[in-house]
Amino acid sequence: MLLRRLTLIAVALLSFHKIPNILGAENSPKPKLVIGIIIDQFRYDYLTRFRGDYHGGIDQMLTQGADFTNAFYAQVPTVTAVGHSIFMSGAMPAVSGMVGNSWYDRDEAKSVTSVCDWDEKTVGGHQEKPGARCTDSDPGSPRRLLVSTLGDELRTANSQSKVIGISIKARGAILPSGHRAAGAYWFDDVTGNFVTSSFYMNELPPWANTFNQRKLAAEYVNREWKGFPEWKFKSAAGSPSPYERLPASPWGNELIERFAEDAITGEQLGQRGATDLLTVSFSSNDYVGHRVGPDAPEVRDMSIRTDQLLAQLFHLIDQKIGMKNVVIVLSSDHGVAPTPERDAADKMPGGYVAADIEDAVQSALNRKFGKANWLIPGASETGLYFDWQTLENAKTPDSKPIPENQIYAVAKQAILSIPQLHVSRVYSREQLENGIDGDFIARAEMNGYYARRSSDLALVFEPGYMPGTTGTTHFSPYAYDRHVPVLFMGLGIKPGRYNGPITPNDIAPTLATMLDIQTPSGSSGRVLTELLLR
Ligand SMILES: [Zn+2]
Repeated sequence: MLLRRLTLIAVALLSFHKIPNILGAENSPKPKLVIGIIIDQFRYDYLTRFRGDYHGGIDQMLTQGADFTNAFYAQVPTVTAVGHSIFMSGAMPAVSGMVGNSWYDRDEAKSVTSVCDWDEKTVGGHQEKPGARCTDSDPGSPRRLLVSTLGDELRTANSQSKVIGISIKARGAILPSGHRAAGAYWFDDVTGNFVTSSFYMNELPPWANTFNQRKLAAEYVNREWKGFPEWKFKSAAGSPSPYERLPASPWGNELIERFAEDAITGEQLGQRGATDLLTVSFSSNDYVGHRVGPDAPEVRDMSIRTDQLLAQLFHLIDQKIGMKNVVIVLSSDHGVAPTPERDAADKMPGGYVAADIEDAVQSALNRKFGKANWLIPGASETGLYFDWQTLENAKTPDSKPIPENQIYAVAKQAILSIPQLHVSRVYSREQLENGIDGDFIARAEMNGYYARRSSDLALVFEPGYMPGTTGTTHFSPYAYDRHVPVLFMGLGIKPGRYNGPITPNDIAPTLATMLDIQTPSGSSGRVLTELLLR
């Protein structure tokens, strides 16, 4: 009996000692570095159409990583600020407040960008002067992003963790890295420097100063883009922005990659015992793509060059940290529509919207309710902001107030009655605030709506139609704008092809699960448990 009891105790002790071996942390090491790569304007079909041309980083991710073939954004608009905010927060604009690249701020009574912030200063480059509206050259901060990012949560879990964001565009650097980043860096087309904001620091770190002192931008503007001699990158003599043409070139991405390498070395990312996060946004694909469209040879060339730049970046990471110790995720902030010229040549629907929507609405309301300044002009291309003072003052001939909805209904009718506007639907503030039943477009509109920032009427154009007169763009709820790559590779990732539908919102909560940290505050994504090895 005694022997049996002793045996039981022995077994219990043994099992107790075994527990750490089964579940212990030593079996599931954390990545030393998480790298979030976001290629600005990169459709999913760029992976498949140019597959045979990839022999670098994209090829490595496709062969060794997890490839989600059906990742679709589920909000509108599909633009840079929105995609970059979703990437590392998992949050919809309805929660994060990131309703566009810019919007009309009713408190400040002016148009603002997603990251402009006049309480801060630009560090390391030229200082813009405050203008009537916020621009991309203004100082920036993540102040308008209302939710936490993966990086913010990583810092909460371990204050030793470092978070860095890099892009040509301020919003591409600031929004994925978040509020608690050690630094977000972007390109200043006046000085050719990478700059940051006083939100993060008052002086550039030595490694960034050293990078800027190499004056790479001044070299790059003289380079030729082999095969595309009509592209020139030097600004006209005496231009106030000598480097303004560089973002729309292969060299914009080269600058980003080289700066990212120096950040990894300079900040010793992934080499200090804590998990770090580096977000790198390759912006030049977007600038080039806008001009020539997804079917131009330039876009193929940019994609191939991006694949090669990623190989360089991965090589450095392997040398410094070891690829087996990192997790890399690659996605895009949005796709793009074919150019209207291409659509016409292919007998496909699509085109530029030539008629002026604001004019049409303004005159319809003048006719119906009397002359007034009904709209805030130029505040948005895919929505209409009304002047709320005018709405409040609007009276019938017998001096009764006119209900807002009646005004919106007249505007909506005016828009839908003009076929040249190619608007297929109009959603009013009231509909989006109260929730509407409907299909994926209705849900995308609701996911993209934030009451204090969004327009009063949201417009949906027919597929292929866009405002503008040249090139092409992205903003819509259609597959060409919504369908993007989501590729994971590295520690703890089960490689393979995953055909089930997902959203890019799923990236952040999945990474949070892998890192055993809190999920970012506004995340509505699903954890992609199918790709996790544990
Ligand atoms: Zn764009």
